[in-house]
Amino acid sequence: MNVNDPFAGLTIEASRRALAAQFKASGIETPDLDARLLIGAALGLDHTRLAAQAARLITTDESKAIASFAQRRMAHEPVARILGHKEFWGLDFELSAATLVPRPDTETVVEAALEFFRSNSGIKPFRIADIGTGSGAILLALLSEFPDATGIGTDISAAALTTAELNARRFGLAGRASFVQCDYAATLSGSFDLIVSNPPYIRSSDIATLDRDVRDHDPHLALDGGTDGLDAYRAIIPQAAALLGPDGVLIVETGHDQSTPVSDLMRAAKLTLPRPPVADLGGIHRAVMGRKAAF
Ligand code: GLN
Repeated sequence: MNVNDPFAGLTIEASRRALAAQFKASGIETPDLDARLLIGAALGLDHTRLAAQAARLITTDESKAIASFAQRRMAHEPVARILGHKEFWGLDFELSAATLVPRPDTETVVEAALEFFRSNSGIKPFRIADIGTGSGAILLALLSEFPDATGIGTDISAAALTTAELNARRFGLAGRASFVQCDYAATLSGSFDLIVSNPPYIRSSDIATLDRDVRDHDPHLALDGGTDGLDAYRAIIPQAAALLGPDGVLIVETGHDQSTPVSDLMRAAKLTLPRPPVADLGGIHRAVMGRKAAF
């Protein structure tokens, strides 16, 4: 194996194995999957083509491309960041340095909204707001499910909003989605049927203990929730309570030990709790829902 072109002259299959072994030795959690995704991206081949060409030899240029992705992954840059996109709710989101990588856990917020509005027949969310929208993940997933709805996403980061706008266009949702740069919901007005948010909720002192993939590569502005992790909820919940129309619903993502204090903040803002906290697939209370009184 040549150190400058470590994969040149190997077959695709042998490169996958070599890279997976390298990732495994570095403590990367899903070495086989990551090796397959990165080699596929470096070669411009999807899963099927990669498998079909398993016995073909890697060229020098391809070897360099793989080695450069491999080096980034070894520095614990998440695969989604290296690829520049991530699937969420069946939609392929573009990412940027200013956005979180959308997490599967966050689909809990989308599911809770769908379930609520579908089981309360006759009520559909026509105006949706997403506070701290990032890549636009929650807002655009909801707009894809509610074809009559329009939505507005806010973010403090202009760069994040550029990415969210790009995603809205990518999914053909730009006509129903608008974006505004502000602190939480500061510039929003009017009344909303549904407000969602995945705010920063990690305690400042816990940031240093996060996985390297998150700590070194996700924007801290989107993670850091202040001393007790609840700063963003203290800002967002009263703002949202004022912006919701009659019967309107607020759904926020929460960290593993936050559903009780967040429920208390909802009650303090005179929202009722129409259902218990919603658990994610790992059994963690991941979303809390509050509802405004009908009048
Ligand atoms: N769930 C994310 C994490 O564990 C945190 C996202 C957030 O603070 N909203 O890294």
